[in-house]
Amino acid sequence: MTKFSDLKLGPKVLKAITDTGYETPTPIQAGAIPPALEGRDVLGIAQTGTGKTAAFVLPMISMLARGRARARMPRSLVLAPTRELAAQVAENFDKYSTHLKLTKALLIGGVSFKEQDMLIDRGVDVLIATPGRLLDHFERGKLLLTGVQIMVVDEADRMLDMGFIPDIEKIFSLTPFTRQTLFFSATMAPEIERITNTFLSNPARVEVARQSSASETIVQSVVEFTASRKDRQSQEKRNVLRAMIEAEGAACTNAIVFCNRKTDVDIVAKSLKTHGYDAAPIHGDLEQSKRTEVLQGFRDGNLRFLCASDVAARGLDIPNVSHVFNYDVPSHAEDYVHRIGRTGRAGRAGTALMISTPSDEKNLTAIETLISSTIPRAENPLAVAAVAAAPAPAADAPEKKPSRRRTSASRTRTAKPVEADAVVEAAPVAEPQAKPEEAKPRTRPERAPRGKARQEQDRGRRNDPVVGMGDHLPSFIALSFEERRVS
Ligand code: AMP
Repeated sequence: MTKFSDLKLGPKVLKAITDTGYETPTPIQAGAIPPALEGRDVLGIAQTGTGKTAAFVLPMISMLARGRARARMPRSLVLAPTRELAAQVAENFDKYSTHLKLTKALLIGGVSFKEQDMLIDRGVDVLIATPGRLLDHFERGKLLLTGVQIMVVDEADRMLDMGFIPDIEKIFSLTPFTRQTLFFSATMAPEIERITNTFLSNPARVEVARQSSASETIVQSVVEFTASRKDRQSQEKRNVLRAMIEAEGAACTNAIVFCNRKTDVDIVAKSLKTHGYDAAPIHGDLEQSKRTEVLQGFRDGNLRFLCASDVAARGLDIPNVSHVFNYDVPSHAEDYVHRIGRTGRAGRAGTALMISTPSDEKNLTAIETLISSTIPRAENPLAVAAVAAAPAPAADAPEKKPSRRRTSASRTRTAKPVEADAVVEAAPVAEPQAKPEEAKPRTRPERAPRGKARQEQDRGRRNDPVVGMGDHLPSFIALSFEERRVS
């Protein structure tokens, strides 16, 4: 197995790696760092979560350790599609260059030009930027890119989605032909292939296993939901979301709630807040200072629910996210993998739950094709509550299916979409009055363990589905061992 010490990184960089506690390079690092240090162009095909940021930051700072920056002429340039990603790359630079004297500037929208101009004027070793903001600076005549020796394009496929490719081409043409290029993309769409053929010279191609399958540590499920009426869909869907959150109980320590549209990000965040949940939105239309504040709050554990758009949350590295809720089925199947990859990071357990409406069927199928597996159907927790609240059948009434507790068994069994008119009308629990932290999970017994024990029990259940009983699962079997003892 490759060790960091085999990679010919500078001693001060190695020291910083030791400080971070990393033991071995990830495959993208082991593959990309040696050719990068030899001065070769690198085409890295890897997704976020693979350690790709260090795969370009480590060789860059090793190489930049020699030489000095000149005023207004950065020596290296990193382009990232979003402000948050650019900021994350900047954090990585700080972390790995603590033992070196390197200067950097972060050029992102929403931050005053004046401050950024001052940094550039002084001369920087590394310029980290979003493409639009970089070109704004260039066009104002404040920046020269002719001194760029190393240029990194990070998340090129997302740049493509966001329409940044013309900007990237322009930036390439403003940098010297002799520059070294490190280019990273999760996928190789034809347009990306064209760019790499045009601007990279005989690159070392390093490809790590495509994340078309989700991490095995993530428990996935989808609730198929049909609104009682089309004009009630949004409201009823938010009811379902809250019921799903409630059903997770204390195991849901924090979560990212993904919506497809920015307007829905705002609406869902507002709705959750109205119902006493600690939630805030993050998307591209918010002020940068607000985005930074919200993200920091979530990272620090001061915010429980982050409602996000794909762009805002792309590539964000936030450890310890217990849950991802896909309020909407993403329209690009790959976004599903990216979204749920925000949980279950670094081998930790995670839960990814999704709501699918009949019009999402095509996109749901596309996701299942991409990940080559069927996402287990979970019952709509509102429907489960409605059935549980229904009066008991008369002795001579025909036998009904037993109302099932929401256990691993029900989670993993394919359930029919539940008609919501039965659900909404019969389920006043849809609007929990108590604060979520105070509210007791409806489907759990009073003496259920809490905190870590609860999480462990939940994991145990999920891993232990009851098979072979069809729909006639006696309710005592669905109980955990602990619950069987107390009931
Ligand atoms: P990235 O793909 O760059 O977003 O990195 C994902 C996560 O992996 C980050 O939290 C890094 O700090 C972490 N990471 C990067 N390299 C290593 C390594 N060699 N060993 C362990 N963790 C790493």
